Amino acid sequence: MRLLVIEDEIKVARFIERGLREEGFSVETAADGDSGLVKARDDTFDLVILDVMLPGRDGFSVLRELRASGAQTRVLMLTARDGVQDRVQGLDLGADDYLVKPFAFAELLARVRALLRRPVSDEPALLHAADLQVDLRGRRVTRGGKLITLSAKEFGVLAHLLRRAGNVVTRSELAETVWEDLPNTPSNVIEVTVYHLREKIDRGFSPALIQTVRGAGYLLQKS
Ligand code: CA
Repeated sequence: MRLLVIEDEIKVARFIERGLREEGFSVETAADGDSGLVKARDDTFDLVILDVMLPGRDGFSVLRELRASGAQTRVLMLTARDGVQDRVQGLDLGADDYLVKPFAFAELLARVRALLRRPVSDEPALLHAADLQVDLRGRRVTRGGKLITLSAKEFGVLAHLLRRAGNVVTRSELAETVWEDLPNTPSNVIEVTVYHLREKIDRGFSPALIQTVRGAGYLLQKS
């Protein structure tokens, strides 16, 4: 089992890391939100332990971006404040559980084990349309067996279109789900992302999967 700990307080990070290693887990750490997000998005972890209070991008923002990119990784949030608001916000954003600081290591371990026993999501990990395959957990996209590299937003848009395959998805729906942190994202930003996504998954392949529905939005045909 591979775990990622995103925590800027070195003493706390070391304490968690050492304890989990002694329990046989493979542990990586990140000391700020931005590098944590990159690691969580680009690599496969069974669980991310995410502190709310981080320099720069905070834990909520990391979680929001991670979920917007389609990652289903389990997330345990650490909150220093015993505030209900923090916990509600974390769970609303897609955290799987939370733990209030300070905590005993045994308590953290119990939460970690409980989460790891829980299936990641009811959603199938693999979505497909024609010869396009998207592994939501591994964040791996292939078409006709060819590996395709997408940006986080491109991946988020594709995952959303696939989940809603056969339905027209409006730009405002994409803004809300993929650009959650910026719900008023200008439509040209979304159009540019869809343009790049098409260049990667449709150019040189047949059939073209993403269709523009004039005046309405986009449609991915489930074939
Ligand atoms: Ca912190």
